[in-house]
Amino acid sequence: MRVAVPKETKDNEFRVALTPAGVHELVRRGHEVVVEHDAGAGSAIADADYKEAGAQILAGAAEVWDAAELLLKVKEPIESEYGFLRPDLTLFTYLHLAASRSCTDALLAGGATSIAYETVRTEDGRLPLLAPMSEVAGRLAPQAGAYHLMRSAGGRGVLMGGVPGAPGADVVVLGAGVAGANAIAVAAGMQARVTVLDIDVDKLRAIDDRYAGRVRTVYSTELAVREAVTQADLVIGAVLVPGAKAPTLVPNELVARMRPGAVLVDVAIDQGGCFEDSRPTTHADPTYPVHGTVFYCVANMPGAVPHTSTRALTNATLPYLLRLADEGWEAATAADPVLAAGLSTHRGELLSAEVAAAHGLPL
Ligand code: NAD
Repeated sequence: MRVAVPKETKDNEFRVALTPAGVHELVRRGHEVVVEHDAGAGSAIADADYKEAGAQILAGAAEVWDAAELLLKVKEPIESEYGFLRPDLTLFTYLHLAASRSCTDALLAGGATSIAYETVRTEDGRLPLLAPMSEVAGRLAPQAGAYHLMRSAGGRGVLMGGVPGAPGADVVVLGAGVAGANAIAVAAGMQARVTVLDIDVDKLRAIDDRYAGRVRTVYSTELAVREAVTQADLVIGAVLVPGAKAPTLVPNELVARMRPGAVLVDVAIDQGGCFEDSRPTTHADPTYPVHGTVFYCVANMPGAVPHTSTRALTNATLPYLLRLADEGWEAATAADPVLAAGLSTHRGELLSAEVAAAHGLPL
Protein backbone atom coordinates (compact mmCIF):
# COMPACT_ATOMS: atom_id res chain seq x y z
CA MET A 1 0.00 0.00 0.00
CA ARG A 2 1.13 3.59 -0.60
CA VAL A 3 1.22 5.44 2.71
CA ALA A 4 1.57 9.23 2.59
CA VAL A 5 2.51 11.77 5.24
CA PRO A 6 1.93 15.47 4.53
CA LYS A 7 3.34 18.37 6.51
CA GLU A 8 0.84 19.59 9.10
CA THR A 9 -0.94 22.82 8.20
CA LYS A 10 -2.58 24.05 11.43
CA ASP A 11 -1.17 27.15 13.13
CA ASN A 12 1.96 26.28 15.11
CA GLU A 13 1.50 22.54 14.57
CA PHE A 14 4.98 21.04 14.41
CA ARG A 15 4.15 17.39 15.00
CA VAL A 16 4.37 14.82 12.21
CA ALA A 17 2.34 11.61 11.91
CA LEU A 18 5.22 9.17 11.27
CA THR A 19 8.85 8.86 12.37
CA PRO A 20 11.68 7.22 10.40
CA ALA A 21 11.19 4.14 12.62
CA GLY A 22 7.61 3.88 11.31
CA VAL A 23 8.81 4.34 7.73
CA HIS A 24 11.31 1.54 8.27
CA GLU A 25 8.60 -0.83 9.57
CA LEU A 26 6.26 -0.07 6.66
CA VAL A 27 8.96 -0.42 4.00
CA ARG A 28 10.19 -3.66 5.58
CA ARG A 29 6.69 -5.06 5.08
CA GLY A 30 6.67 -4.11 1.41
CA HIS A 31 4.73 -0.82 1.57
CA GLU A 32 5.69 2.41 -0.17
CA VAL A 33 5.98 5.60 1.91
CA VAL A 34 5.93 9.17 0.63
CA VAL A 35 6.63 12.12 2.92
CA GLU A 36 6.20 15.82 2.16
CA HIS A 37 9.40 17.87 2.10
CA ASP A 38 10.14 19.26 5.58
CA ALA A 39 7.21 17.39 7.19
CA GLY A 40 9.39 16.39 10.14
CA ALA A 41 11.40 19.59 10.47
CA GLY A 42 9.36 20.87 13.43
CA SER A 43 10.02 17.63 15.31
CA ALA A 44 13.75 17.63 14.54
CA ILE A 45 13.41 14.92 11.84
CA ALA A 46 15.19 15.77 8.58
CA ASP A 47 14.11 14.66 5.08
CA ALA A 48 17.40 12.75 4.96
CA ASP A 49 16.34 10.67 8.01
CA TYR A 50 13.12 9.65 6.24
CA LYS A 51 14.99 8.92 3.03
CA GLU A 52 17.48 6.73 4.83
CA ALA A 53 14.59 4.76 6.31
CA GLY A 54 13.22 4.17 2.81
CA ALA A 55 10.69 6.98 2.18
CA GLN A 56 10.40 9.06 -0.95
CA ILE A 57 10.28 12.82 -0.36
CA LEU A 58 7.74 14.80 -2.42
CA ALA A 59 7.81 18.57 -2.84
CA GLY A 60 4.25 19.68 -2.09
CA ALA A 61 1.00 18.83 -0.30
CA ALA A 62 -0.99 18.21 -3.50
CA GLU A 63 1.52 15.59 -4.68
CA VAL A 64 1.48 13.80 -1.33
CA TRP A 65 -2.33 13.71 -1.08
CA ASP A 66 -2.57 12.55 -4.71
CA ALA A 67 -0.07 9.74 -4.12
CA ALA A 68 -1.86 8.47 -1.02
CA GLU A 69 -3.90 5.33 -0.60
CA LEU A 70 -3.58 5.64 3.17
CA LEU A 71 -2.93 9.19 4.38
CA LEU A 72 -1.57 9.76 7.86
CA LYS A 73 -1.98 13.08 9.60
CA VAL A 74 -1.91 14.48 13.10
CA LYS A 75 -4.73 17.05 13.01
CA GLU A 76 -7.98 17.09 11.05
CA PRO A 77 -7.92 18.44 7.49
CA ILE A 78 -8.37 22.21 7.31
CA GLU A 79 -10.23 24.13 4.60
CA SER A 80 -7.27 24.30 2.22
CA GLU A 81 -7.11 20.47 2.33
CA TYR A 82 -10.84 19.73 1.88
CA GLY A 83 -10.38 19.59 -1.91
CA PHE A 84 -7.92 16.68 -1.53
CA LEU A 85 -10.52 14.33 0.03
CA ARG A 86 -11.70 11.61 -2.35
CA PRO A 87 -13.58 8.29 -2.15
CA ASP A 88 -10.55 6.01 -2.68
CA LEU A 89 -8.58 7.59 0.15
CA THR A 90 -8.29 6.27 3.71
CA LEU A 91 -7.50 9.00 6.22
CA PHE A 92 -6.09 8.09 9.63
CA THR A 93 -5.77 11.11 11.96
CA TYR A 94 -7.31 13.03 14.86
CA LEU A 95 -10.67 14.31 13.58
CA HIS A 96 -12.74 15.62 16.54
CA LEU A 97 -15.75 15.77 14.20
CA ALA A 98 -18.32 16.31 16.97
CA ALA A 99 -16.74 19.76 17.40
CA SER A 100 -16.53 20.59 13.66
CA ARG A 101 -19.50 20.60 11.34
CA SER A 102 -17.42 21.97 8.44
CA CYS A 103 -14.87 19.14 8.60
CA THR A 104 -17.69 16.57 8.92
CA ASP A 105 -19.39 18.02 5.84
CA ALA A 106 -16.10 18.09 3.89
CA LEU A 107 -15.38 14.42 4.65
CA LEU A 108 -18.91 13.40 3.65
CA ALA A 109 -18.75 15.47 0.45
CA GLY A 110 -15.27 14.16 -0.48
CA GLY A 111 -16.27 10.55 0.20
CA ALA A 112 -13.02 9.54 1.98
CA THR A 113 -12.95 6.69 4.49
CA SER A 114 -11.86 8.31 7.74
CA ILE A 115 -10.72 6.71 10.96
CA ALA A 116 -10.38 9.01 13.97
CA TYR A 117 -7.49 8.39 16.36
CA GLU A 118 -9.48 9.76 19.29
CA THR A 119 -12.35 7.26 19.05
CA VAL A 120 -10.24 4.10 18.61
CA ARG A 121 -11.45 2.46 21.79
CA THR A 122 -10.70 -0.69 23.77
CA GLU A 123 -13.42 -2.88 25.25
CA ASP A 124 -12.82 -1.44 28.71
CA GLY A 125 -13.31 2.10 27.36
CA ARG A 126 -9.67 3.23 27.09
CA LEU A 127 -8.71 5.50 24.19
CA PRO A 128 -5.18 4.31 23.30
CA LEU A 129 -4.53 6.90 20.57
CA LEU A 130 -5.82 9.85 22.57
CA ALA A 131 -3.99 8.85 25.74
CA PRO A 132 -0.45 9.92 24.77
CA MET A 133 -1.63 13.38 23.72
CA SER A 134 -3.81 13.66 26.80
CA GLU A 135 -0.71 12.87 28.84
CA VAL A 136 1.18 15.67 27.09
CA ALA A 137 -1.70 18.21 27.26
CA GLY A 138 -2.37 17.27 30.88
CA ARG A 139 1.25 17.83 31.88
CA LEU A 140 1.38 21.10 29.91
CA ALA A 141 -1.81 22.53 31.43
CA PRO A 142 -0.36 23.47 34.85
CA GLN A 143 2.76 24.78 33.07
CA ALA A 144 0.61 27.06 30.83
CA GLY A 145 -1.57 27.94 33.84
CA ALA A 146 1.44 28.77 36.01
CA TYR A 147 2.82 31.08 33.32
CA HIS A 148 -0.48 32.93 32.83
CA LEU A 149 -1.01 33.23 36.60
CA MET A 150 1.95 35.62 36.60
CA ARG A 151 0.93 39.29 36.84
CA SER A 152 3.02 40.11 33.77
CA ALA A 153 0.95 37.59 31.77
CA GLY A 154 -2.40 39.02 32.97
CA GLY A 155 -2.97 36.64 35.90
CA ARG A 156 -3.47 37.00 39.66
CA GLY A 157 0.22 37.07 40.39
CA VAL A 158 0.22 33.81 42.36
CA LEU A 159 3.22 31.48 42.37
CA MET A 160 2.02 27.88 41.98
CA GLY A 161 3.93 26.51 44.98
CA GLY A 162 3.97 29.72 47.02
CA VAL A 163 6.84 30.02 49.52
CA PRO A 164 6.98 29.23 53.23
CA GLY A 165 4.45 31.53 54.92
CA ALA A 166 2.77 32.62 51.64
CA PRO A 167 0.40 29.96 50.30
CA GLY A 168 0.54 28.86 46.67
CA ALA A 169 -2.22 28.52 44.09
CA ASP A 170 -5.52 26.72 44.54
CA VAL A 171 -5.78 24.50 41.47
CA VAL A 172 -9.04 22.78 40.49
CA VAL A 173 -8.90 19.97 37.95
CA LEU A 174 -12.20 18.93 36.34
CA GLY A 175 -11.88 15.32 35.23
CA ALA A 176 -9.51 12.69 36.68
CA GLY A 177 -8.91 10.79 33.42
CA VAL A 178 -5.63 10.67 31.55
CA ALA A 179 -5.25 14.45 31.03
CA GLY A 180 -6.59 15.24 34.50
CA ALA A 181 -4.33 12.75 36.29
CA ASN A 182 -1.28 14.11 34.46
CA ALA A 183 -2.29 17.71 35.25
CA ILE A 184 -2.61 16.74 38.91
CA ALA A 185 0.84 15.12 38.90
CA VAL A 186 2.51 18.30 37.64
CA ALA A 187 0.41 20.76 39.71
CA ALA A 188 1.02 18.72 42.87
CA GLY A 189 4.69 18.45 41.92
CA MET A 190 4.79 22.26 41.78
CA GLN A 191 3.38 22.19 45.32
CA ALA A 192 0.04 23.83 44.47
CA ARG A 193 -3.06 22.90 46.51
CA VAL A 194 -4.99 20.63 44.17
CA THR A 195 -8.67 19.63 44.14
CA VAL A 196 -9.98 17.20 41.53
CA LEU A 197 -13.61 16.55 40.58
CA ASP A 198 -14.96 13.60 38.60
CA ILE A 199 -18.22 11.66 38.26
CA ASP A 200 -16.27 8.37 38.25
CA VAL A 201 -15.52 7.45 41.86
CA ASP A 202 -12.97 4.81 40.79
CA LYS A 203 -10.89 7.56 39.19
CA LEU A 204 -11.07 9.59 42.40
CA ARG A 205 -10.14 6.48 44.38
CA ALA A 206 -6.99 6.02 42.27
CA ILE A 207 -5.95 9.66 42.85
CA ASP A 208 -6.66 9.37 46.57
CA ASP A 209 -4.55 6.21 46.79
CA ARG A 210 -1.68 7.74 44.87
CA TYR A 211 -1.47 11.05 46.75
CA ALA A 212 -2.57 9.74 50.17
CA GLY A 213 -4.71 12.77 50.93
CA ARG A 214 -2.37 15.44 49.46
CA VAL A 215 -4.90 16.01 46.65
CA ARG A 216 -8.57 16.67 47.56
CA THR A 217 -11.00 14.49 45.63
CA VAL A 218 -14.62 15.63 45.19
CA TYR A 219 -17.53 13.95 43.42
CA SER A 220 -18.52 16.23 40.53
CA THR A 221 -21.96 17.85 40.81
CA GLU A 222 -23.10 21.30 39.68
CA LEU A 223 -22.87 22.58 43.26
CA ALA A 224 -19.46 20.99 43.93
CA VAL A 225 -18.03 22.50 40.73
CA ARG A 226 -19.46 25.90 41.70
CA GLU A 227 -17.88 25.81 45.17
CA ALA A 228 -14.49 24.65 43.93
CA VAL A 229 -14.26 27.04 40.97
CA THR A 230 -15.10 30.19 42.97
CA GLN A 231 -12.15 29.38 45.30
CA ALA A 232 -9.67 28.61 42.51
CA ASP A 233 -6.67 30.48 41.15
CA LEU A 234 -6.33 28.00 38.29
CA VAL A 235 -9.06 25.76 36.81
CA ILE A 236 -8.06 23.01 34.40
CA GLY A 237 -10.93 21.54 32.34
CA ALA A 238 -10.10 17.93 31.35
CA VAL A 239 -13.45 16.16 31.06
CA LEU A 240 -14.46 13.88 28.21
CA VAL A 241 -17.58 12.12 27.03
CA PRO A 242 -16.01 9.99 24.25
CA GLY A 243 -16.90 11.16 20.74
CA ALA A 244 -19.38 13.73 22.03
CA LYS A 245 -19.15 17.46 22.70
CA ALA A 246 -17.71 18.18 26.14
CA PRO A 247 -20.33 18.97 28.83
CA THR A 248 -20.44 22.63 29.94
CA LEU A 249 -19.35 22.60 33.58
CA VAL A 250 -18.46 26.29 34.08
CA PRO A 251 -21.16 28.70 32.87
CA ASN A 252 -20.54 32.40 32.23
CA GLU A 253 -22.24 33.52 35.45
CA LEU A 254 -19.88 31.31 37.48
CA VAL A 255 -16.83 32.87 35.81
CA ALA A 256 -18.23 36.26 36.86
CA ARG A 257 -17.94 35.11 40.49
CA MET A 258 -14.34 33.85 40.23
CA ARG A 259 -11.25 35.50 41.69
CA PRO A 260 -9.98 38.35 39.47
CA GLY A 261 -6.96 37.23 37.45
CA ALA A 262 -7.79 33.54 37.89
CA VAL A 263 -6.74 31.41 34.93
CA LEU A 264 -8.93 28.81 33.17
CA VAL A 265 -7.17 26.27 30.94
CA ASP A 266 -9.70 24.34 28.83
CA VAL A 267 -7.90 21.19 27.72
CA ALA A 268 -11.25 19.82 26.50
CA ILE A 269 -11.49 22.62 23.91
CA ASP A 270 -10.83 20.14 21.09
CA GLN A 271 -14.19 18.58 21.99
CA GLY A 272 -15.92 21.98 22.12
CA GLY A 273 -14.69 22.96 25.59
CA CYS A 274 -16.14 22.53 29.09
CA PHE A 275 -16.43 26.23 29.98
CA GLU A 276 -19.35 28.14 28.39
CA ASP A 277 -17.09 30.98 27.19
CA SER A 278 -14.39 28.76 25.69
CA ARG A 279 -13.44 29.28 22.07
CA PRO A 280 -10.41 27.73 20.38
CA THR A 281 -7.21 29.78 20.49
CA THR A 282 -3.76 29.27 19.02
CA HIS A 283 -0.23 29.11 20.42
CA ALA A 284 0.38 32.46 18.71
CA ASP A 285 -2.47 34.13 20.63
CA PRO A 286 -3.45 31.67 23.38
CA THR A 287 -5.53 33.71 25.85
CA TYR A 288 -8.41 36.17 26.12
CA PRO A 289 -10.17 37.80 29.08
CA VAL A 290 -13.63 36.90 30.44
CA HIS A 291 -14.96 38.85 33.49
CA GLY A 292 -11.39 39.67 34.57
CA THR A 293 -10.18 36.06 34.30
CA VAL A 294 -7.76 34.66 31.71
CA PHE A 295 -9.01 31.92 29.36
CA TYR A 296 -6.39 29.64 27.72
CA CYS A 297 -8.05 27.40 25.10
CA VAL A 298 -5.34 26.15 22.73
CA ALA A 299 -6.84 23.31 20.73
CA ASN A 300 -3.51 21.64 19.91
CA MET A 301 -1.55 22.01 23.13
CA PRO A 302 0.85 19.10 22.37
CA GLY A 303 1.94 21.05 19.27
CA ALA A 304 3.98 23.25 21.63
CA VAL A 305 6.28 20.32 22.45
CA PRO A 306 6.47 18.56 19.07
CA HIS A 307 9.68 16.74 19.84
CA THR A 308 8.00 14.88 22.71
CA SER A 309 4.53 14.69 21.16
CA THR A 310 5.54 13.24 17.79
CA ARG A 311 7.35 10.38 19.47
CA ALA A 312 4.57 9.75 22.01
CA LEU A 313 1.88 9.77 19.30
CA THR A 314 3.66 7.58 16.78
CA ASN A 315 4.54 4.99 19.45
CA ALA A 316 0.78 4.58 19.96
CA THR A 317 -0.44 4.76 16.34
CA LEU A 318 2.16 2.46 14.76
CA PRO A 319 0.56 -0.93 15.58
CA TYR A 320 -2.80 0.23 14.16
CA LEU A 321 -1.17 1.81 11.14
CA LEU A 322 0.68 -1.40 10.32
CA ARG A 323 -2.61 -3.33 10.41
CA LEU A 324 -4.32 -0.77 8.15
CA ALA A 325 -1.45 -0.91 5.68
CA ASP A 326 -1.08 -4.70 5.73
CA GLU A 327 -4.77 -5.61 5.53
CA GLY A 328 -6.57 -2.51 4.17
CA TRP A 329 -9.15 -0.63 6.25
CA GLU A 330 -12.03 -3.03 5.56
CA ALA A 331 -10.32 -6.23 6.71
CA ALA A 332 -8.44 -4.47 9.50
CA THR A 333 -11.57 -2.94 11.06
CA ALA A 334 -13.60 -6.14 10.52
CA ALA A 335 -10.96 -8.07 12.47
CA ASP A 336 -10.43 -5.53 15.23
CA PRO A 337 -13.35 -3.87 17.06
CA VAL A 338 -10.88 -1.52 18.77
CA LEU A 339 -9.85 -0.02 15.41
CA ALA A 340 -13.42 -0.24 14.06
CA ALA A 341 -14.56 2.13 16.83
CA GLY A 342 -12.54 4.84 15.05
CA LEU A 343 -14.46 4.55 11.76
CA SER A 344 -16.08 7.94 11.16
CA THR A 345 -17.04 8.33 7.48
CA HIS A 346 -17.07 6.16 4.36
CA ARG A 347 -18.17 7.12 0.83
CA GLY A 348 -20.37 9.96 2.03
CA GLU A 349 -21.91 8.07 4.94
CA LEU A 350 -21.47 8.96 8.58
CA LEU A 351 -20.47 5.94 10.68
CA SER A 352 -20.16 7.54 14.14
CA ALA A 353 -23.33 7.74 16.26
CA GLU A 354 -21.81 10.44 18.50
CA VAL A 355 -20.90 12.68 15.55
CA ALA A 356 -24.36 12.17 14.02
CA ALA A 357 -25.98 13.12 17.33
CA ALA A 358 -23.72 16.18 17.77
CA HIS A 359 -24.76 17.60 14.37
CA GLY A 360 -28.32 16.25 14.08
CA LEU A 361 -27.28 14.20 11.02
CA PRO A 362 -28.58 10.74 10.01
CA LEU A 363 -26.31 7.70 10.45
P1 NAD B 1 -10.50 10.53 29.81
O1 NAD B 1 -11.67 9.79 29.28
O2 NAD B 1 -9.29 9.79 30.24
O3 NAD B 1 -10.97 11.39 31.06
C1 NAD B 1 -12.12 12.18 31.05
C2 NAD B 1 -12.68 12.21 32.44
O4 NAD B 1 -13.77 13.14 32.46
C3 NAD B 1 -13.25 10.85 32.90
O5 NAD B 1 -12.61 10.45 34.09
C4 NAD B 1 -14.72 11.15 33.10
O6 NAD B 1 -15.30 10.40 34.15
C5 NAD B 1 -14.67 12.64 33.39
N1 NAD B 1 -15.94 13.32 33.28
C6 NAD B 1 -16.92 13.19 32.33
N2 NAD B 1 -17.97 14.01 32.63
C7 NAD B 1 -17.61 14.67 33.77
C8 NAD B 1 -18.26 15.65 34.58
N3 NAD B 1 -19.48 16.10 34.27
N4 NAD B 1 -17.62 16.11 35.69
C9 NAD B 1 -16.39 15.67 36.01
N5 NAD B 1 -15.73 14.74 35.28
C10 NAD B 1 -16.34 14.24 34.19
O7 NAD B 1 -10.15 11.65 28.72
P2 NAD B 1 -8.74 12.35 28.49
O8 NAD B 1 -7.94 11.49 27.59
O9 NAD B 1 -8.17 12.76 29.79
O10 NAD B 1 -9.16 13.65 27.65
C11 NAD B 1 -9.71 14.80 28.29
C12 NAD B 1 -9.93 15.90 27.27
O11 NAD B 1 -8.67 16.41 26.84
C13 NAD B 1 -10.63 15.44 25.97
O12 NAD B 1 -11.57 16.42 25.58
C14 NAD B 1 -9.51 15.39 24.98
O13 NAD B 1 -9.97 15.52 23.65
C15 NAD B 1 -8.74 16.59 25.44
N6 NAD B 1 -7.39 16.74 24.88
C16 NAD B 1 -7.07 18.00 24.46
C17 NAD B 1 -5.85 18.28 23.95
C18 NAD B 1 -5.54 19.71 23.56
O14 NAD B 1 -4.52 19.94 22.92
N7 NAD B 1 -6.35 20.70 23.91
C19 NAD B 1 -4.91 17.26 23.81
C20 NAD B 1 -5.24 15.97 24.24
C21 NAD B 1 -6.49 15.71 24.79
